[in-house]
Amino acid sequence: MCELCRRHFMRGALALGTLGLAQKFSSPLLAQTGPATGSGGAKLPDRGEFTITGAYLMTMDGALGDIAGGSIHVKNGEIVAVGKDVAGGGEKIDGAGMIVMPGLVETHWHMWNTLYRSFAGDKPEEGYFPTVARFGQQMTPDDIFAGTRLAAAEAINSGTTYVHSWCHNVRSTAHAEADVRALAAVGIRARHSCGWPQGLPDTQAVDQTPLETLARNWKSLSNDGLITLGMAWRGQFRAGPIKPEIYQPEFDNARKLGVPITVHVASARKAVNQIEPLYKGGLMGKDVQLIHTLSASPTELDMIKEAGSPVSVSPGTELRIGYCYPQISETLAKGIPLGISIDTSALTGSSNLFAVLKLARDSENAKAESEFKMTARQALELGTIGGARSMGLDASIGSLTPGKRADLIAISPNALNMAVVTDPAHLVLEATGPENVDTVIVDGRILKRGGKLAALNPSEVVADARTALAGVRERTKWR
Ligand SMILES: [Zn+2]
Repeated sequence: MCELCRRHFMRGALALGTLGLAQKFSSPLLAQTGPATGSGGAKLPDRGEFTITGAYLMTMDGALGDIAGGSIHVKNGEIVAVGKDVAGGGEKIDGAGMIVMPGLVETHWHMWNTLYRSFAGDKPEEGYFPTVARFGQQMTPDDIFAGTRLAAAEAINSGTTYVHSWCHNVRSTAHAEADVRALAAVGIRARHSCGWPQGLPDTQAVDQTPLETLARNWKSLSNDGLITLGMAWRGQFRAGPIKPEIYQPEFDNARKLGVPITVHVASARKAVNQIEPLYKGGLMGKDVQLIHTLSASPTELDMIKEAGSPVSVSPGTELRIGYCYPQISETLAKGIPLGISIDTSALTGSSNLFAVLKLARDSENAKAESEFKMTARQALELGTIGGARSMGLDASIGSLTPGKRADLIAISPNALNMAVVTDPAHLVLEATGPENVDTVIVDGRILKRGGKLAALNPSEVVADARTALAGVRERTKWR
């Protein structure tokens, strides 16, 4: 969320009594993940060779389309073949009755603060921004690890195979490394965007040591290239304007390091105009992702298009906090690369990206007062190939296309909430919950199978998050 708008949106009370309630997992303990103090290398399944047969393939590839009774052959993490008559190879996985599609692509998520799931309640002084700042300042690297790992595990469990970890509580290099290690431990594909510590005054420059250290050591942190590095930037405004001598060197340093930049802008209609100053300052580009852009005028959308900046919107939090409706159709009409994001579980509660994609479609239809403004297929594209394009990854993920990396999911529509199968695109968008996601594969590694997480211990993930939260609450001395 954009801190600029905190004065307008400081609402909500802590529902601390509910924080101990964690999601329940039914799968057995199958393997151990890397420890919080580990190197970032995780004990993940091997990339094998297998062929999923007889499935309904929703490829999200413009040329291939949907293929009923299709097969997909995966070898060494790559999609080798997709179609009706695939010779295949390796283990045969029966996909009969399943809908197989690319894993969802998430584009902006403060995963570290998942410890504070659903804490934003009903009183202004206990709303999202003041509380995250207060609790965030008490977090250790292990707390960051516990929060981000919980988020990444939830992502895998609900069919999201790529996340953009927007880490704006980097209190030291160890905090940033903990975020990266948590992503690596779960085996998810990701970008880690290294930010600043919560509570840092706008008059104080962000210490560049963590970002520079990560950039220098990235090879050993990237989980064999599955995770990339970016910079989460405060921008020109937060609670108020930030001076150029503060923000410009931060921006320039990211460009010097060659890492992409991401920044919150214009969350609400009454927010200060932030897009035009960025444009005029030469602070946009293909490597500068803009978050929210809810108040962008048509002229500002033209500026974004001209500069080449991708955009991310998060209807789940934008509607929840009362910013306003996202401008999804308007942004797409300009040809601007757009992705959908979770933003923060503190506001969304659960972080099932299918549910947020449904909100994206529904909010467009509500604005247009039409049942037909946005199709289910368009919403699913935003969550797959569109999101991948916005992150600069559409050449390697986002569709079931031979030659791309094998990030895919199989959905079983046999449960009470999904039966019976009518139109696959509408059904997947409107009904898929984590319990329907049977299989999740990232880079050819099977991380969920038969509805059970295969490469991490959910009980340990939840227990560690509970312990971390208890410690933060104790140190924060808040209740
Ligand atoms: Zn945000």
